[in-house]
Amino acid sequence: MDLSWILNHLGEERERYFGAVAPPLMQSSIFAFPTVAAMREAFGDEFAEHLYTRGNNPTVEILRRKVAALEGAEDCLMFGSGAAAMASGVMACVAGGDHVLCVAKPYSWTRALLRDLLGRYGVLTSFVDGTDPAHFEAALGERTRMIVLESPNSLTFEQQDLAAVAALARARGLRTICDNSYATPLNQSPLALGIDLVVHSATKYLNGHSDVVAGALCGSHELLRQVFRGPYMTLGAILAPHDAWLMLRGLRTLPIRMERIARTTREVLAFVEAHPRVRRVYSPHSASHPQSALSQRQLRGASGLLTIELDVTGVAAVERFCDALTRFLMTVSWGGYESLAFPLCAVFPRDTALHTATGTNLALVRLSIGLEEADVLIADLEQALARL
Ligand SMILES: *Cc1c(COP(=O)(O)O)cnc(C)c1O
Repeated sequence: MDLSWILNHLGEERERYFGAVAPPLMQSSIFAFPTVAAMREAFGDEFAEHLYTRGNNPTVEILRRKVAALEGAEDCLMFGSGAAAMASGVMACVAGGDHVLCVAKPYSWTRALLRDLLGRYGVLTSFVDGTDPAHFEAALGERTRMIVLESPNSLTFEQQDLAAVAALARARGLRTICDNSYATPLNQSPLALGIDLVVHSATKYLNGHSDVVAGALCGSHELLRQVFRGPYMTLGAILAPHDAWLMLRGLRTLPIRMERIARTTREVLAFVEAHPRVRRVYSPHSASHPQSALSQRQLRGASGLLTIELDVTGVAAVERFCDALTRFLMTVSWGGYESLAFPLCAVFPRDTALHTATGTNLALVRLSIGLEEADVLIADLEQALARL
């Protein structure tokens, strides 16, 4: 992959805009035509022509071309969020009465999409432990049309053998979609393994600056045309040109951000794994990860997410730890330039037991490693762990 060509040049037709090095922000909702014939031609193919920004916009298009190239995809559609990209990808492939298989612990709004929203429209979803491809095979039914994957997920990092699941889906004519937000196109290529559609929450690493919410859906021209004519144009959950312009700026540095984040994450990982007050560490790159062989085969490098289980007997100690952090901002999301901590206990009322009725372990704190120096982050974790 000629990364620097993709990031610095692909899709940028500088001769068309006075040699400007930074791409223009085409902040226009509509595009006008000199003749009826030209307008008629645009109506003939809104996917390719510029007519209306809910369909196509030149600034967004530069971004589409770059993200598609990074994923090794024929095409990419950008959305106003990762959730919209996932919803559009699934909705383009299923209809009422169809059955969908989804991994057991997907991103929460992917679960809500399948179970709650599409469930109301007659799409039935079974949630399956995806760590063994045989579990998908066992859950197949007459009406199964699609398999929804997320490898790894963003809390406990369960993975699926993407090539194996893609092979079994293809043999039965099922569509597959994989959330690749954790790995980024740099560290995992689901399409090359036979998956049909790849989703990114571009809010995370692709943009990387915590200032845009965006989504990407990558796949073949044929499938993306189907998405375009269906949910993309009808739901209109598009990425605004200004957000696309900001994302182009963020994307330029993806490889150096990921390189730095991977290095720092390995240092932080070694620190927390050796710390006596950390009971367990979840990371695809931890030797203790039950699928570490699959990580080594399927992931080209580390991203900056890891989850620690604190050695505590109650939520109060988790709160003391998190409140004491000074170099990790406490919030949701991940993938930015800044390090973050997400305590699961913040989602529940204060007096909830350490293990909730539904089995959630509130001693878990997810860390997203940013661009700070490793020793700064380790020192911060050390002083916060001392408060336990
Ligand atoms: C954040 C996230 C999403 C949703 O993306 P948004 O941009 O917030 O809509 C989907 N999948 C994963 C794994 C995520 O972390």
